[in-house]
Amino acid sequence: MKRKLRVRQAQTVLPFGVGAVLDVQGESFVAAGIERWPDLKTPVSCERLAARLGSKGFYAAPHTLNDRYDQPDRPGVPYVRFPGWLFCGSCRGMARYLRENEKPGEPPVCASCAAAPRLTPMRFVRICADGHLDDVDWWYWAHSRLAPELRDSCSESDNAWKARRLSFRVADRATGLEALSVRCGATGAGGKPCGAERDLLDVLGPQSGHCSGRNPWQRWDARSSCGQQVHIVQRTAGNVYYPVVYSALDIPQTDEPPRAEQSVAAAVLAHDYWPLLLDALGTRRADTFRGMIKEDTDAPDGLIDQLAAEATGAPTTPSPEPKPGKTGKVDLSRDEWYAFDATRFPEAAKEFTIRRGGLGLDGEKEEPWATLDAHVGKVVLADRLREVRALTGFRRHSPNGTLVPADTSGRLRWLPATEVYGEGIVLTLDEERLTAWENDPRVQVHVRGVRADLEASFRAEQLAEAVGSELSPRFQLLHTVAHLLIRQLSFDSGYTTASLRERVYGRPEYGQHGLLIYTAAGDAEGTLGGLVRQGEAPHFAETLIRMLEAAAWCSADPLCAEHTGQGFGNLNRAACHACTLLPETSCETGNTLLDRALVVGSARVPGYFTDVLTASREYAAATAQE
Ligand SMILES: [Zn+2]
Ligand SMILES: [Zn+2]
Ligand SMILES: [Zn+2]
Ligand SMILES: [Zn+2]
Ligand SMILES: [Zn+2]
Repeated sequence: MKRKLRVRQAQTVLPFGVGAVLDVQGESFVAAGIERWPDLKTPVSCERLAARLGSKGFYAAPHTLNDRYDQPDRPGVPYVRFPGWLFCGSCRGMARYLRENEKPGEPPVCASCAAAPRLTPMRFVRICADGHLDDVDWWYWAHSRLAPELRDSCSESDNAWKARRLSFRVADRATGLEALSVRCGATGAGGKPCGAERDLLDVLGPQSGHCSGRNPWQRWDARSSCGQQVHIVQRTAGNVYYPVVYSALDIPQTDEPPRAEQSVAAAVLAHDYWPLLLDALGTRRADTFRGMIKEDTDAPDGLIDQLAAEATGAPTTPSPEPKPGKTGKVDLSRDEWYAFDATRFPEAAKEFTIRRGGLGLDGEKEEPWATLDAHVGKVVLADRLREVRALTGFRRHSPNGTLVPADTSGRLRWLPATEVYGEGIVLTLDEERLTAWENDPRVQVHVRGVRADLEASFRAEQLAEAVGSELSPRFQLLHTVAHLLIRQLSFDSGYTTASLRERVYGRPEYGQHGLLIYTAAGDAEGTLGGLVRQGEAPHFAETLIRMLEAAAWCSADPLCAEHTGQGFGNLNRAACHACTLLPETSCETGNTLLDRALVVGSARVPGYFTDVLTASREYAAATAQE
């Protein structure tokens, strides 16, 4: 049987983008940097995202199946065999499989066994926090317990990286890693068999030795000198690969500044300290004035910079090429929110078609509908959305590791990306009610604790991308509602939770008070409209009530409800796998900053929707008595 290494175009950014290790029919490969990509690739346009990432543009992998490994003359995206160390399950012999051993479409087989069984990739690899990945030095491992002079007397000591006669043994009487060992069958001191052997009991974790300073597709002379500690991990472990992906919706460009921003800008310009700030620009006093203006107007730094630039005639973009990972960059959510919150919608287009929906509850007096209606701002249905996802690079060992750019050569100015089409539902909350709820001292106190945990978290900088300059109660509320809604929609409509995604618009400084649930998996034909139908009246109001009722209870209660810090970095409160969490691909913040209490209330804090839930229960009790 011919092996087929086939990766679809959409998978070349996620999950099998640059640096990812993937298993294909018992073999293991790593996706090479984009400097190895073929010339035949498809341009993907998204100016907003390009500006945000400081990139000249995007390309998608060719539309062909990306099987260049098997068909070297084809234009697909390149994958490289990794790990290079393989073993035979029959004779247990290990082989370093080299480029010249490869036969396109053929899996590697054992040269020592007559039946030529297929070789299996070694399960362990070596990574470091600078994003490097390499094979474990198995020759060194087998000899690591020997004195240096004995080690040097092994006949393979000069050939260690592709040493012959290593074997990967399994002991009958032990279990786990202790049962595995690597043994050397070469010639040792005085012509006797070397016989060096070490079990794998201590193989996982930090190890001595130097990092090779590169990734498997990089040439030896492209390595960097790396002083990081190396760690041996299983090649399927989660910390081998943390892709860094940015996504933007394709919204129509508009020259008109958004409503909310106009009023904030007007407040900044009218502020008593504004002329003083302009006079003091470039001095330390400017920071004082800026701080006071920000406190009074809630204006973000970006807006103040822009207004100051307009007033002084300086160029409006302070940095022509914003780099990802630095603060002070354009927030992608801002324009998306303005597009959904606009009073007039743009003409329908392939990339963006939205219309006003509603709960169908206008003038409704019956409970719980009337109370629900009062809590909801509006519903916007997105019949067509286009999303562009771009991979800037990846990290290894920890989500905080050094970013390795998708272009490991450092010469290219573009990024790998894919475009997907889909549909979605936008739900906004009643702004006045939301602000009043946020100002409740109990809500303030409740969120202050999470804010402190967030600031202490080593993911604070990454989460700031989604959260904004400061975590607000509304972000956590909207985020939790997004999760609960995805779970309810999936329960009601048969969409899997993994096929739905969230976008939380929860930055008070931009007047945001809504969320988008969308599905984007389709080509230019779009998706089938099933999700948007779930957002239409009267289903959607019923979905929301069912969602709130479900949110009031978790099978892990009372433990879950009373939690003061669970999940990654203790950043969740009342939220666990049983009630709120979603597949990683659905969530913008890695399943953190979730709390059902802010939605349905608890003994300590009022929920935004507590009144709706109470109304719903009273209604249920009344009908039960009838
Ligand atoms: Zn064999
Ligand atoms: Zn040896
Ligand atoms: Zn390294
Ligand atoms: Zn729970
Ligand atoms: Zn989420």
